[in-house]
Order: sequence, then structure tokens, then C-alpha cells
Amino acid sequence: MKRFDIDIAVCGGGVAGAVCASLLARAGRSVALIEARRPGWQPPMQDFDLRVVAISPGSARILDKAGGLALHDPRRRAEYRRMQVCAAAASVAFSAQEHGIDQLGWIAEVPALQQAQWQAMEQRGQVRILAPAQVQEMALRDDSVRLSLADGQTLRAGLLVAADGARSRLRELAGIITDQWHYNQAALVTHISTERTNEGVAWQRFTEHGPLALLPLPDGRSSIVWSQPDRRAQQLLALDEGDFLDELNSHQDSPFGLALSCTERRSFALIRRQAQRLVKQRLVLLGDAARNVHPLAGQGLNLGLADAAALAEVLENWQPDQDPSAALARYQRWRLAAGSVIAGGIHAINEIGHGPPPFSTGLLGLGFRLAGRLWPAREAFVKRACGLDADSPRLSRS
Ligand SMILES: Cc1cc2nc3c(=O)[nH]c(=O)nc-3n(C[C@H](O)[C@H](O)[C@H](O)COP(=O)(O)OP(=O)(O)OC[C@H]3O[C@@H](n4cnc5c(N)ncnc54)[C@H](O)[C@@H]3O)c2cc1C
Repeated sequence: MKRFDIDIAVCGGGVAGAVCASLLARAGRSVALIEARRPGWQPPMQDFDLRVVAISPGSARILDKAGGLALHDPRRRAEYRRMQVCAAAASVAFSAQEHGIDQLGWIAEVPALQQAQWQAMEQRGQVRILAPAQVQEMALRDDSVRLSLADGQTLRAGLLVAADGARSRLRELAGIITDQWHYNQAALVTHISTERTNEGVAWQRFTEHGPLALLPLPDGRSSIVWSQPDRRAQQLLALDEGDFLDELNSHQDSPFGLALSCTERRSFALIRRQAQRLVKQRLVLLGDAARNVHPLAGQGLNLGLADAAALAEVLENWQPDQDPSAALARYQRWRLAAGSVIAGGIHAINEIGHGPPPFSTGLLGLGFRLAGRLWPAREAFVKRACGLDADSPRLSRS
């Protein structure tokens, strides 16, 4: 007799959750995906979505393996082969060629990545999709988990994956404690056109207010992410376009020249979160439900995709009638450590950058100068950031 209605239930169909559901279903598990809002995104006619992210080569492999082909459409993604990070008068530059890879990553729209994963899931029909649907109650046991959905349905699963985002309801229901740091900063985002086109360079400067990144878009413009104190970000949102561009240009000295125009501007509050544990009985946290990192290194979704691939890897030999606790313990050790290394590094750089200027940017500049000269450190950094080092899941490396 079958003990569960479903082997694995995944709650949250953002990019990380959808990829996780697909990878587990492709490995022969019966999987249900529960998502509050069915994505109905259509490519914007006028412009690229403001929610763009840097996707590493390792993450691109995971996305491909899960079946969503968003990165294959050159009209909707921009490859970057060079990266330059500047502080004060110093900078450090990386090129894909120097490190023996074809590209350092791609810039892509989050809704396009999500839509592609959903289309692949729906076409293949391996994942049972429950959307719109929400988990209302959860009873965690050592051998199963019972879910009650808002529409009255109940579901018994062998394992429950919480991929329900930064404010994870399931994490809260399970009573998992989360450490939080309020940066009192917001990331201001907009797309800009510049005097010269951006032909595939991810450029970043640590300004006196916070890190400012210019990331390439497929049409030669750049998407900016400018993290800065909350109040200042709100003031910049309220400026008219001309005054905003003047302010931006007084802080950016990118190789693309002056910013000439910008699209709508938005801001996102920045909070670092880290769940103290990623596993409780038959519940596993993944993606933003597991942690949130500052966007300055473009790693949030990359970590979430690595979580999905790592979970599929540790569950490779698990049979639904077996106890998964050893496999889940391995997942927790692996992903807590990987997340802490990256989040800790990002946090330290952000904290130094927010010290009193010019000391803060000077210190960062000194660090960049040293890092630029230490080849093993550069190589290790690039391999880690690209998801190609020995600690990355097999799917991302192969
Ligand atoms: C300004 C900015 C720039 C960034 N840049 C980068 C970058 O360059 N590179 C990078 O890798 N990352 C970046 N990130 C981070 C990245 O956007 C996130 O890490 C990623 O999108 C999170 O994906 P997720 O699938 O884990 O969560 P989400 O996208 O939040 O998905 C969660 C899903 O769960 C659903 N849900 C929630 N509650 C329930 C419920 N109770 N029941 C059912 N469903 C539910 C939601 O509807 C949603 O679809 C950036 C973030 C910001 C703010």
C-alpha cells in the first residue's frame, strides 16, 4: 500500500522551487508543486522587466537540466565575459578567457526564467501542479508530513520542500529561527542607456553611499542596482529623470560614459536572513526561504539553484519508504556552509564599504589590488562565483 499521496511536495513555484520540483520529478519521484500565484508573465512589449539577475554558468546548467530554456533566447539575456569592480582609485578585473571559460554569466529577467521553468514543467507533465493554492496548516512528523491547503484539500507527503521565499510561511509554521540583519539600505534598480553600449561587461563601483552595479542588457543598455541608505534611495526615487541622471553620473565612471536616460525606478529593501537550520523532520528549506543575501555579489538565486541541485543529488538513492534523515543532514551541512561562506563574504565587503569614506573605499581598493595580484585567490573566487568549484553540486559542474 502506498504510504503517501505524493513522494515530495514543493511549496513555492518561484525559480528555485520550480527547478527543484522538475529535478526531483526527472529523477523518478512523484512531485506536487504548490504555488499561491500561477505565473502569467508575458514578455513586456516595451522593455525588459526590472527584476533582472546575474546567472552563473553553473546555475545555467542547472536551469537547462531542469528544462527551462530561457537563457537560449539571445533577445532576452545578455552574456557577460568581463567583470570590473572599482573602489577609490583601485579596481580588479576578471575575464572569462583568462579563466578558461566562455562567459562569466548571463543577465536575465526573473519572470522569464520562472515562466520558462513552468512551461517545461507543464509540457512534460511530470509534476502535479496545484496553483493557485496555499498551504494553510502543516503537521510535521518523523515519517511524513500532512498538509492542509486553503481550498480544503489535504496531502500526505514523504518530504516537504519550502521554497516559499524570504518570508517563508512554512519556515514560520515549523518554528525555525532566522537570524536577521536589517541593513537599513535599499537597492534602487532601473535600466539606463549610456553614451556607449555595454557589450558584455558587469561593472561595479563602491560609491560613498554603497555599491553601484551596471549590468549588461541584450540591447546594449545597462541595468543598474545601486544599494544605499533607505532614506537616500527614497529621495532618488522621488527625483525627476534629469536630476536622477545627474546624481547617478556624479557617482559612476563606467567605461560606457554618461547615463542618458532611464526607465521606471524601483527599490527593494535589503535584509540579510539566515535560517538557523535547513531541515526539521521531513521539512527542507531552499532558496530565499533558507537565506537572503545582499545583492552586491549577485548570488541569491544562484545559491537557491545550487540548493535545488544539491537536494536532488543527496536524494539520488533515497526511496520514499526509507528514512531520508541521513541525506537531509548532508544537505543541511553542505548548504548551510556554502551559504555562510558566500553570505559572510558579501556581508563583510558591504560593511567595510559602509564605513566612513574615504577610509572605507580606500580599504576596499587595497583589498582589490591585492586580490588582483594573487592568482590562486582570483581563480578560487571565479570558480566559486561561477558555480564550478568542487563544493558546487555535480549538476552545476558537469
Ligand atoms: C535588487 C536585487 C538584485 C538581485 N540580483 C541578483 C543577482 O544578480 N543574482 C542572483 O542570483 N540573485 C539576485 N537577487 C536575489 C534573487 O532575486 C532571489 O534570491 C530569487 O529570486 C529568489 O527565488 P526563490 O524562488 O527562492 O523565491 P521567490 O522568487 O520569492 O519565490 C517564492 C514563491 O513562493 C510562493 N509562495 C509564497 N508563499 C506561499 C505559500 N504560502 N503557498 C504557496 N506558495 C507560496 C510565491 O508566490 C513565489 O512564487 C537579487 C535580489 C534583489 C532584490
